[in-house]
Amino acid sequence: MSTEDVKQDSTNGTLGPFSKDYASSLDAADSLAHFRSNFYIPTVTDLKRPTLATPPDEGTAQPCTYLCGNSLGLQPVRTAEVVNAFLTQWRTKAVTGHFVDHTDSPLPPFVDIDDHAAKLMAPLVGALEAEVAVMGSLTANLHFLMSSFYRPSRKGEGRWKILLEGKAFPSDHYAVESQIVHHGLDPAEAMVLLEPTDPRYPILPTEQILETINQHASELALILLPGVQFYTGQYFDIQRITSHAHSHGILIGWDLAHAVGNVDVRLHDWDVDFAAWCSYKYLNSGPGAMAGIFVNEKYGKVDAEGSTPKFWPRLSGWWGDDKSTRFQMTNKFVPRPGAKGYQLSNPSALDLAAVVASLQIFNETSMADLRQKSLRLTTYLEQLLDALALKKPGLFDMVTPRDPSERGAQLSIRLAPGLLDSVLENLEHAGIIVDERKPDVIRVAPAPLYNSFLDVFRFCHVLEAALDKSSAASKS
Ligand SMILES: *Cc1c(COP(=O)(O)O)cnc(C)c1O
Repeated sequence: MSTEDVKQDSTNGTLGPFSKDYASSLDAADSLAHFRSNFYIPTVTDLKRPTLATPPDEGTAQPCTYLCGNSLGLQPVRTAEVVNAFLTQWRTKAVTGHFVDHTDSPLPPFVDIDDHAAKLMAPLVGALEAEVAVMGSLTANLHFLMSSFYRPSRKGEGRWKILLEGKAFPSDHYAVESQIVHHGLDPAEAMVLLEPTDPRYPILPTEQILETINQHASELALILLPGVQFYTGQYFDIQRITSHAHSHGILIGWDLAHAVGNVDVRLHDWDVDFAAWCSYKYLNSGPGAMAGIFVNEKYGKVDAEGSTPKFWPRLSGWWGDDKSTRFQMTNKFVPRPGAKGYQLSNPSALDLAAVVASLQIFNETSMADLRQKSLRLTTYLEQLLDALALKKPGLFDMVTPRDPSERGAQLSIRLAPGLLDSVLENLEHAGIIVDERKPDVIRVAPAPLYNSFLDVFRFCHVLEAALDKSSAASKS
């Protein structure tokens, strides 16, 4: 069913979009609906209970309505099994578990577990397998990648500046700022910040970004932007901005923390230079789980002929070394070709077990199909919110772009001043989990892998009551 179908159904009367039955009918027609049962959805009593253990007399409880996968994805049911396999492999094989294949294990030998995770990750970002590595954590990886791709000339000569958003996620801001300081430059001069024209609706139109690039083109060494913006939910035109940067000879990297597992990015085809993302948001691998990097195949080439091997510069560690010579301990670094030559440490196999479990599920479908569902789900959410806004004028409006191609799953809603705490309290009381960005924004993200149209319906239904209560309380 397309966005158009949703709109048509809203006018044909029989099952109006504002009925619960209509939401159920959309779920019944959803070919990806079965993925929901791959996840644990906390119950309302789970969330309220001060213990982890369930009391024996608790009975069956209603699942919460979880719309916060942009912040922390739900736990896949199979994660425990794969993590347990890791524990068994370690317990029963100890060091030999590094090298021995087990016919009944969901995991390869420990030395190959990062490669296995990268193989499962590559299709999610439209990359060649060789262009992806699973390693470290997002901010640390941004630093490693900038150490390779931000190599400024001296101040005032050639390329030495970095373009980023003025309202970038703080960690990205700090990473860029400290890279600049690390090179002996002044962030006040070397950071070019993209500022929205209206700070209340901080969308950055593509034309504005291209124009800013033009203005600073000869001095820009690097551009770092988000695929999907964490606050507004804006989905940047990665392909167009990348190609524009390249037309000026500028390197460009993308932070895909809110894009991976959400929108259908094609990093290889779009010729992105590098990208980094975490795997605990839409990728459901658990808090702080190991992250991903993309390095364009151009920068993964290794020429090992001659006495000095030639490769793109990087901060190195032994895990980036050629696999065949890694254990020879020669102290002669010859990187593996591709993104894996940018690895440093041997990865946490415990952590990667959770990443593998989660990526297996994504590999049972495709980002193209998930994106199609996501477009329907978020359009439905928008439609219900628009109807609610007509009924309750002045209580909230939308920060996220209205064009579905310029956003992912998330809609950011700005509440009228003073309503946030009370609305959140009412939502939470009814078992609805969303997240807040103070002073007045809530972010609502129906994740296509496990959220249903009924989840969206229920959220809007409860939001209506929450707005009634909160606005009455704020008037009295
Ligand atoms: C979530 C997020 C981070 C978090 O970084 P960690 O290093 O994983 O703690 C950084 N940047 C952006 C844009 C994010 O959305």
